[in-house]
Amino acid sequence: MRALQLTEWKHDPELRDVDAPEPGPGQVLVRVGAAGACHSDLHLFRDFEPGLLPYELPFTLGHENAGWVEATGPGVGGLEPGQPVAVYGPWGCGACHQCVQGYENYCERQAEIGASGGGLGRDGGMAPLMIVPAARYLVPLGDLDPVVAAPLTDAGLTPYHAIKRALPRLGAGTAAVVIGAGGGLGHLAVQILRTMSPCLVIGVDSRDAAVAVARENGAHHGLLAGDDAADEIRGLTGGKGADAVFDLVGIETTMALGAAVVRPRGHLTVVGIGGGTLSFGFFSMPYEVTLSTTYWGTIPELHEVIALAERGLITPAVQRYALDDALDAYEDMRNGRLEGRAVITPG
Ligand SMILES: [Zn+2]
Ligand SMILES: [Zn+2]
Repeated sequence: MRALQLTEWKHDPELRDVDAPEPGPGQVLVRVGAAGACHSDLHLFRDFEPGLLPYELPFTLGHENAGWVEATGPGVGGLEPGQPVAVYGPWGCGACHQCVQGYENYCERQAEIGASGGGLGRDGGMAPLMIVPAARYLVPLGDLDPVVAAPLTDAGLTPYHAIKRALPRLGAGTAAVVIGAGGGLGHLAVQILRTMSPCLVIGVDSRDAAVAVARENGAHHGLLAGDDAADEIRGLTGGKGADAVFDLVGIETTMALGAAVVRPRGHLTVVGIGGGTLSFGFFSMPYEVTLSTTYWGTIPELHEVIALAERGLITPAVQRYALDDALDAYEDMRNGRLEGRAVITPG
């Protein structure tokens, strides 16, 4: 079968012929309906120096996957061939203190395991078939189309987790700011906020078209990033600032904007892996601000995200690409030409 593989660090991935996998004990073979193309993949193959990540090459890209159960290995029960499923992406040890609570994204044995999931050191979904190492990583989809559901496993789950942590701060009369609100994670972050909280939602992005996307997905206000954004957010919140800021970009300027608008007791959550930094000290920020990074979300939270989508409360916008055109998807992402999440449909 054809697979889009990372064969060398700091190089574009390649379409190669690989053997179709067979499920071993405890494993599930999934026919991939769609694999989302994530902005973090660009960092993965363009920016990361050899040795930075403990991944062995080559492996198939695609860490945001959904499809249908094709076959189950010995010892797997509760799944039927043909059943539509979403694939939980970060694969931990399944046994440590974090993993047993569903936090496989923060597995404490990650250093021993090396690879952190399909498309992240192990073979992912940018191929017609993928091996999922345990049934607990599969969430049944009900009536949801796997092609539409694939982005929920990362672009949905990641902001969902960040927002859920901050929900106690987002009651009536509060405001949330999403930075990067028109992107793959951003448009879903806006939808999730609108369905989970009565807060005012302010979307910020760096391009006019992306600001429009944020508005179309439910942001009450859309702002262009820039020197005026902090003042505009203060204006929209009656001078108070934001009770929660979700920075889906994570570069110097976006983190500075977050710090400039977060309100006392607010949450400033950096989700984007842009590599920016922020100085933190007693006088640098309002009192009791909670500063946090987040990485992905938990297995129970993926079930919740899928449930929101099944009820029609959140809907990813997707732009489809054939497997042969996967590199175009990344090129379009880099040039800001995507409308919604790019998904590769290998079938
Ligand atoms: Zn991702
Ligand atoms: Zn673990």
